[in-house]
Amino acid sequence: SIRTRFAPSPTGMFHVGGARSALFNWALAQQRPEGRMVLRIEDTDAARNRPEWTEGIIRALAWLGIGEEDPHFEGPYFQSAYADKHRETAQELYKNGRAYHCDCTREQLEARRDNPNLGYDGFCRDRGLEAGPGRALRFRVPDGGPTVVDDKIRGRVEFDHSAIEDFVIARADGSPLFVLANVVDDVEMGITEVVRGEEHLSNTPKQQLLWEALGHTPPVWAHLPVIVNEQRKKLSKRRDKVALESYQEEGYLAEAMVNYLMLLGWAPGDDREIMPWSEMTPLFRVENVNASSAFFDEKKLRAFNGEYIRALGVEEFIERCAPWITGENTPWDTDDYDPEVFRAVAPLAQSRVAVLSEIVPNVDFLFLREPVEDEKSWAKAMKPGVGEEMLAAALERYSDPGLEWAAESLKTATEETGATLGLKLGKAQAPVRVAVTGRTVGLPLFESLELLGRERVLERVSAALE
Ligand code: GLU
Repeated sequence: SIRTRFAPSPTGMFHVGGARSALFNWALAQQRPEGRMVLRIEDTDAARNRPEWTEGIIRALAWLGIGEEDPHFEGPYFQSAYADKHRETAQELYKNGRAYHCDCTREQLEARRDNPNLGYDGFCRDRGLEAGPGRALRFRVPDGGPTVVDDKIRGRVEFDHSAIEDFVIARADGSPLFVLANVVDDVEMGITEVVRGEEHLSNTPKQQLLWEALGHTPPVWAHLPVIVNEQRKKLSKRRDKVALESYQEEGYLAEAMVNYLMLLGWAPGDDREIMPWSEMTPLFRVENVNASSAFFDEKKLRAFNGEYIRALGVEEFIERCAPWITGENTPWDTDDYDPEVFRAVAPLAQSRVAVLSEIVPNVDFLFLREPVEDEKSWAKAMKPGVGEEMLAAALERYSDPGLEWAAESLKTATEETGATLGLKLGKAQAPVRVAVTGRTVGLPLFESLELLGRERVLERVSAALE
């Protein structure tokens, strides 16, 4: 049966590109009852690894729905735990003549070659060196012929052996290199498909040679296209927002994120884009992944997220908003928060937010003792003369106990008040909105006034006039 793997190195924040690789592998594993995706943390680069990056990976995967409570998941395994096996395998390759020791220094190689970038020149191939200090172990690349990598996305890619140097598989201290450790683990874990980023394609012929030298049939390979930004540059952590966590913190829904990431290089067909994971999984075919680079379109992701938010039931929406509304970082005092008021306003807000964190500026006027102060909004809405006049007139009208405090009647009252000053409704409500909410845009104003209640509205309008 199929065994895929996701093998991240814990050297930084978990990246959206890593998330896409994980999801593609996950879809393949879930397609078969016995299918498995192994999570292997490649933590051998002790200098660059940090435990919090590992935790971040596991957390992020769980957020995407990938984790141990699913029978298709296996792991996490830690590469560092298999160091002995890596060393033994290097020895085995040495003993059966597939690898040899080499004591060439970089300087020597440079002195022998005009262009050391051409790779190793094979100087030690037939010197029969024993193991010893300063002696690395190199794999003996067969002389004749090419290695053909049959990539499910790229097709057949030929690598002539003359262009593959005798590469190092273990350092002089015996520690294995990535190319070797990665293959040894894949062999041990019975991996049948390697689906990973394109940046590894240059390793693949070497790794395929290793699989063969170890007496195993190489896996099916698939190298995923790079993900690029709007300028068609490869996504990078310096330039772009790449950490999955930052999307989570902004209030992207996991299911929207999953959906969007699956479309980076692949499409379910029939022009469908918004599709739940359960429907998408059986349709996924790695051979249908496009070989050209995939554009990470944040605007499109936002639009997706908005759609997913609008599709939630109100109760579910309220629940998902909790971290922003009742968490520790709310701009209002916890005591001033009123769940009933939030419940009432939630349906209005749900249709307006594209990411959950936007809930805060939409509803803060309800829970803050005073509306936010934003000079720009204020200046915009309070056009000289008009603004104050309108507020004064509105204050008088809103104070009339005969005015029913309900959205509909508040609208009529505001419209009529505006008309006496020659203002259309839009112009008339702008100063009211900014006085009451502190902002120039937001939820439907009259529903907001109704919810906030007469007393507080009058208070804010008067305060604005002072
Ligand atoms: N640890 C490697 C990386 O994060 C994974 C390579 C692979 O998937 O084979 O790039």
